[in-house]
Parts: sequence; C-alpha cells; structure tokens
Amino acid sequence: KRQNVLSVQVFPYGENRKLVLSTDITELERTDAMRRDFVANVSHELKTPLTVLSGFLETLRELPLEQADRERYMELMDQQASRMRNIVDDLLVLAKLEGDAKPPGDHAIDMRAAVAHLRDDATTLSGGRHRITFTADDDLTVSGAGTEIMSALGNLVTNAIRYTPDGGSIDVVWKQVGHEAVFSVTDTGFGIPSADIPRLTERFYRVDRSRSRDTGGTGLGLAIVKHVLQRHDATLEVKSEEGRGSTFSVRFPAQRTMRRQPAHA
Ligand code: ADP
Repeated sequence: KRQNVLSVQVFPYGENRKLVLSTDITELERTDAMRRDFVANVSHELKTPLTVLSGFLETLRELPLEQADRERYMELMDQQASRMRNIVDDLLVLAKLEGDAKPPGDHAIDMRAAVAHLRDDATTLSGGRHRITFTADDDLTVSGAGTEIMSALGNLVTNAIRYTPDGGSIDVVWKQVGHEAVFSVTDTGFGIPSADIPRLTERFYRVDRSRSRDTGGTGLGLAIVKHVLQRHDATLEVKSEEGRGSTFSVRFPAQRTMRRQPAHA
C-alpha cells in the first residue's frame, strides 16, 4: 500500500526567518523562477475565458439566433465572466497576503462558530451527494486572523467535496494532539499521484485541469492556504492514495493553541 506524504516547510515568522531565507539559495532561485512562470500563467488563465467570451459575443452579434439560444449563449458568457472574476478575486487575496508583513495577531478565534459555518457551507455545496461528518472539540481554539483561517480551512473542505465523486464520504476533525491543534479533512475521493503532491501549493497547479475547471476551481486555493498557514506558523500535511482518497491536515503550533475558558453562569 502506497501512501504519499508531503510536509510543506514554512518559514517561521520572527528571528529565524531571515536566516532561513538568506542561506537557502536554491529555494530563492526556485522562487524567482516560479514568479516568472506566474506572470505567464496568470495571462494564460485569464486569456482562455476571455477568448471564449469574445467568441460567444461575436456569435451573438453576427448570427440571427432564437431567443432560447441567445439566452443559452448569455449564460455561457456569464460563466466565463465568473471564472475570470474568481481568478482575479483569488489573485487579490494572494497579493494582500504577500504584501502583509505584519503578523496575524493573537486574538482567539471563535472556532465553535467557525466549525458550524464550515459545516453549513459543506452541506450546501455537497447537496446531499456525500456523507459528511464533523467531529469537533468545542473548547479547542487557536489565535490569529479569523477570516484568513476560516477561508483556509474552508478551502480544504471545499476541495474534499469537489474532488470526491458522489456517494463518497468526507470526515472533518478538529482536535487537540499533544499541545497542538489539528484540523483534518479526509475524503474518499480521486486521490493525488505522488509526483503531484509536492507541487499542490504552487499557484495554478492542478492535477487534472479539466476537472478543476469543471468544479469552478481557480487553481489558487492551496496557494492561499499555504500563505495563511505560513503566517500562523502552522503546517500543512497531505497524505493521499490515488483512487482511494486524501487527508489534508493543518497543525497549529502550541503557542497558538488554547482552550476556551469555561463560561461563568
Ligand atoms: P483548485 O481551484 O483547482 O481546486 P487548489 O489550489 O485548491 O486549486 O488545488 C490544486 C489541485 O490539487 C486541484 O486542482 C486538484 O487537482 C488537487 N486537489 C486539491 N484537493 C484535493 C483533494 N481533496 N483530492 C484530490 N485532489 C485534490
């Protein structure tokens, strides 16, 4: 039985950060090459829906179409516009995260509400096509930027639903392990080939392009997740077996992990 494991190395904020960056030349060169690729990728990703959009527009202009056909074309154009909008929105989120040098703060996040929210969103997105369970330690919480953490954890749940065929199951667990808090999402979906795992958090990297597009993915989700976790000194671990499913686990460090104070009645 083959299990593929990836640990994304994140640079801790604070004293060690500079040291790590300045000594790791290969990492720097790789980052530089990735940045150049990125510009080419953004252009390509936006150009594809734009080309399709222009094509439909031309058809609408030049062909005498029945009302029903016109409406179908408009719908298809709308889909392409949404696709572009999603890409631009995600790019803005990424740019904001990258430009934000200040640490995400140490406010306790209301994880109880966050988990309830994730559960509602998951139920809606799945529409009853999957068996979904949430097992959460209600008093366990972490500190940081609530909105960022929510979007990162939400992304992992969304992906599990997107990449799991109907009838599959998704299990979300929020629990304390030692002094750390761990959020994990396990699915019985398509799984990920071992060669692809190390590249998952690269921008626009997709294992299966057409599948990602069909589900409305921008290919930027895990890049955003990686940035958010990095800012919170948290790590992402991916275990996957092709054709069987995947587990994405987020581990928050002890210094960000806390327990809710019991309420005094
Ligand atoms: P996308 O918008 O394409 O989902 P992500 O950055 O969120 O982009 O994910 C990158 C790629 O990783 C996806 O296109 C998909 O191929 C793969 N992936 C992510 N999560 C899963 C999962 N739970 N199961 C299988 N493949 C996944």
